[in-house]
Amino acid sequence: MLLTRLAAVMAEAGDGQARLDRIVTLIATSMNTEVCSIYLRRGERVLELCATEGLKREAVHRARLQVGQGLVGLIARRADPINTAEAQSEPGFQYLPETGEEIYHAFMGVPIQRLGEVLGVLVVQNRDSRSYTDDELHGLEVVAMVLAEMTELGAFLGDDAEMAGSHVRPFFARGVSAQEGAAGGVVHLHAPRVSVANPVAEDVGVERLRLSEAMAALRGEVDDMVSADLVGHAGEHRDVLEAYRMFAHDKGWMRRMTASVESGLAAEVAVEREQTAVRAKLSRVADPYLRERLHDLDDLANRLLRHLAGEGPGAEIPTDAVLVARAIGPGELLDYGKRLKGVVLEDGSIGSHAAIVARALAIPLVVQAGRITAEARNGDPILVDGDLGQVHLRPEETVSTAFLEKLDMRAQAQEVYEALRDRPATTRDGETLSLQMNAGLLTDLPSLEGSGADGVGLYRTELQFLIRATVPMRDQQAALYDRVMTSAKGRRVVFRTLDIGSDKVLAYMKRQDEPNPALGWRAIRISLDRPNILKMQTQSLLRGAGGRPLALMFPMIAQATEFFDAKAMVEEQLERHVRVGRPAPERLEIGAMLETPSLAFAPDAFFQAADFISIGGNDLKQFFFAADRENERVRRRYDALNASYLTFIRMIVQRCEEHGTPLCYCGEDAGRPLEALALAAMGVRSLSMRPASIGPVKRLLRESDLVSARATIKSGIARGEVNLREALMDWARAEAIADLV
Ligand code: PEP
Ligand code: MG
Repeated sequence: MLLTRLAAVMAEAGDGQARLDRIVTLIATSMNTEVCSIYLRRGERVLELCATEGLKREAVHRARLQVGQGLVGLIARRADPINTAEAQSEPGFQYLPETGEEIYHAFMGVPIQRLGEVLGVLVVQNRDSRSYTDDELHGLEVVAMVLAEMTELGAFLGDDAEMAGSHVRPFFARGVSAQEGAAGGVVHLHAPRVSVANPVAEDVGVERLRLSEAMAALRGEVDDMVSADLVGHAGEHRDVLEAYRMFAHDKGWMRRMTASVESGLAAEVAVEREQTAVRAKLSRVADPYLRERLHDLDDLANRLLRHLAGEGPGAEIPTDAVLVARAIGPGELLDYGKRLKGVVLEDGSIGSHAAIVARALAIPLVVQAGRITAEARNGDPILVDGDLGQVHLRPEETVSTAFLEKLDMRAQAQEVYEALRDRPATTRDGETLSLQMNAGLLTDLPSLEGSGADGVGLYRTELQFLIRATVPMRDQQAALYDRVMTSAKGRRVVFRTLDIGSDKVLAYMKRQDEPNPALGWRAIRISLDRPNILKMQTQSLLRGAGGRPLALMFPMIAQATEFFDAKAMVEEQLERHVRVGRPAPERLEIGAMLETPSLAFAPDAFFQAADFISIGGNDLKQFFFAADRENERVRRRYDALNASYLTFIRMIVQRCEEHGTPLCYCGEDAGRPLEALALAAMGVRSLSMRPASIGPVKRLLRESDLVSARATIKSGIARGEVNLREALMDWARAEAIADLV
């Protein structure tokens, strides 16, 4: 009844204030409460009393609260209801004298929220300290949903200018690069801005039917997507899509939406209600796998809304579209496909499903671009720098010009790199380095050809595990490793065994609550404690190799015994493999990643036993400086050109040289030209990096004299310099190669 009356108020002529006033009276009367008030958001931080039945009228538009202040502010901040018989004794209660609310004891408030954004708070109060029932709470939440839709439709807009136009100024977001490249174009928002003309179901039967038809269409669409396997790559896409399909067929989801429709909401609002819940969870959950699942659900809800709006998949998008979304599921990104110039996500991570697809499609992708969905509007000009992870929205002309110049220069530099592709990375003083690339998915492999890399210095096998809902079977793993080697066309691929734990959590592994995950149960520590995983992976690698040479290495070895134990396990598997008549690899190399300072001081026997050593600089640096690599506050404080770090690297090089142990450096720094040069000057002869870094690094190395660079570093250290960046830049200027850095 109440919902039908609210819908009637919506349809009436009149200004926003008149509607709000009618609505609070309606709610108070039908819910039998003495007070009903609506607080709406004013700007980022403030909530304003916009209408009330029961509190003092003169407080309307005067009484204001900060988000987080008082019970109303707490509801807005937590996006959670508060229901109490005794408001005054509730923690956080704050009395607003202008409203005269001190005489009311019972208090129930719910957020007015739409798709994860809190637009206001709806409150009812009573004089006696009664308890509102769960049914009443549920009813108030449904009403708040309808109010949220009305707010979105602008039903409460008055003459006040508050709501208009902050979307005209330039906006800059610094995110994280997930796929390199640069692009300019116009914003295309992924989340459909459905406006629901009538949030209330006029005929529940009709709405139920609409919902189930849209759901059937959605399921059909997802099933088709899985069987068509749109990019033509099986393997990782297939896994991603399978997980996605499971959600589309989830019964609980449909049941909850049907219940909302039955409580009187339009089908669209029922979908959005679920979406709001998903987004609320997203803001609380840190687990990357769970987040990925929630994004999948959000993505499916968007599709469902499109079906309800009668828009099929693949609706029109502008030319030069840059997709902007909070997050996007793999299926949706595949739908857009090559029509996109770039993708910017507010959430998402480098290992996310979307990133995997973006890589397959070679579309520049920036993730974690804060506030982008709130700022961007369809059609806004936007520039995406996938190399630096930067986004310019509605850029000033000077920024656009500079960006276009940059694109131009990139194209020119690309030609130079292209010309160098088949040339060796030989320095002016005749030292030749091996430049290799880092990879983690089959879709990365085509870059091997284009980048001119000598091989894959680091293949992160865990990505394959991270994108799946269940542990990949031995045969599946073996088939993947086989394809990786085949795609590498005989070039060496170093497979790093499963490196999980810390921030990389598998769906099918119980999450460990650890005080310091980066220092916790991770990488080789897990493999040694749960040997079956490593055994199965080794068997798969041996099978995948099918007699071809095989190189593998263990992550995070901190003491020699860990290496010996893991190596023995691999050798045992090799024996079994051969015993059953399978071909042994032509050559088997077993290496260790040096990621903890302790390993540099391991006994000689370790250096002799390791077929090669690879410095995992990202982790090594974090442990060397005791600075968390994920913590923005500290991670840039120290860098690889620090004198102590370079001295340490030199020591590792010398220990490896003593024993003839090949050494590679595979952290991010290997791909930064000046850092790569410094590492080379310290004696590192093999570097593994992102494919796009190979050109720039090779170009600088070919123009450099390592003897002279080394002398610069040595004398800087002798002088007591803490960091060699400045000294090296001075040197590069003197050598006339500073522009290559
Ligand atoms: C490293 O730590 O430097 C490394 C290459 O491994 P990851 O970045 O995957 O931890
Ligand atoms: Mg590491």
